[in-house]
Amino acid sequence: MINASLVDQFPILSQTVNGQPLVYLDSAATTQKPAVVIAAIVDYYERLNSNVHRGAHHLSQLSTDAFELTRSKLQSHLHAAHEHEIIFTKGTTDSINLVAHGFRSFLSEGDEILVSEMAHHSNLVPWQITAKLTGATLRIIPMTSEGEMDLAAYEALLSKHTKLVAFSHISNALGSINPVKTLTEMAHAQGAAVLVDGAQALPHTLVDVQDLGVDFYAASAHKMYGPTGIGMLYGRSEWLNKLPPYQGGGEMIAEVSATSSTYADLPYKFEAGTPNIEAVIAWGTAIDWMNQVGIANIEAHETDLLAYGHQLLAEIPGLIMYGSPRHKAAVLSFNIDGLHPYDVGTLLDQMGIAVRTGHHCAQPIMTSLQVPGTIRASLAVYTRRSDLEALASGLKRAINALT
Ligand code: PMP
Repeated sequence: MINASLVDQFPILSQTVNGQPLVYLDSAATTQKPAVVIAAIVDYYERLNSNVHRGAHHLSQLSTDAFELTRSKLQSHLHAAHEHEIIFTKGTTDSINLVAHGFRSFLSEGDEILVSEMAHHSNLVPWQITAKLTGATLRIIPMTSEGEMDLAAYEALLSKHTKLVAFSHISNALGSINPVKTLTEMAHAQGAAVLVDGAQALPHTLVDVQDLGVDFYAASAHKMYGPTGIGMLYGRSEWLNKLPPYQGGGEMIAEVSATSSTYADLPYKFEAGTPNIEAVIAWGTAIDWMNQVGIANIEAHETDLLAYGHQLLAEIPGLIMYGSPRHKAAVLSFNIDGLHPYDVGTLLDQMGIAVRTGHHCAQPIMTSLQVPGTIRASLAVYTRRSDLEALASGLKRAINALT
């Protein structure tokens, strides 16, 4: 069980906003950071600061060890077969772009890429670019009115022409949890590779990439209590060995002459330039922190809160909830009939309540729902029942003020 004092570990949450205690319900955009993660960043600069993999000197060795330790923590956290299957990137967006860039070498006219209608723009736009540059066709897997991936439509779209399938593990806009293993098996039966955007899954649930069978899995540290500007791509060795480098530069080479280069082995082939060292190290601290709290405890806490949130919001007059998938994670996406989401969000902000309003980087979902955007309250391990109660009473006040 989550202890009520856990929230005290998050310094930012004790402040007031617009004269009101902060109610932070925007964790799907980014989670807040526990004090141990903030301390790890400071500690890095006070004790370790030095470039990794480069110097023979003491500090460089210490920072390299701390940096590589996070790779090994991620390997075991995701149950990847090899440490070199974890590539550090700037985040989920960067990870997906790495793969989409590499697939330009493999695709041509007649090939097909399938992307879910529920995908975040970061898992759609890179594939649009790749399709355009290679002549491959991009096909969209529709969602049902409940906000689930339409499995029958997916099956019908899959064929021997499908070379890659891309979808989110959990939708950031609706919270829908996709059946990754089934979707992956169906794609593999046609010989297609599978890329899963795990940005919203790793903060909430245990992920075993070998059990899921995926070829690529992308995530961002800042959605899982770690720093911004760092993320990872898990890729099966077979695929990472086949993919061409994403960027050229220092670190990613074996030998360089004036006219050509050979590339370093995995994972360094994909890690050109000086990385975000302190963020990698502090991400390791965040993973340890999550494991100490217990992923099962985090999941149980959020499931309980989600049910409570649904119950409270069901009592709000005119509230329209979007997405009723059978499996749903910590997101409440809704509108108030007749009110613009932005106006409601602005009034909530005046009450110190942080929610996100808009299309949540998932415009095709909004088109499907026929709304300009939604109000999204998203939960994390530090979310309290009182935060949801504040949201419900804030919404009632906003409705009174706007109608
Ligand atoms: N995919 C999903 C499902 C997301 O929620 C987000 C962040 N909103 C991203 C991808 C992009 O993550 P980042 O901005 O950290 O690259």
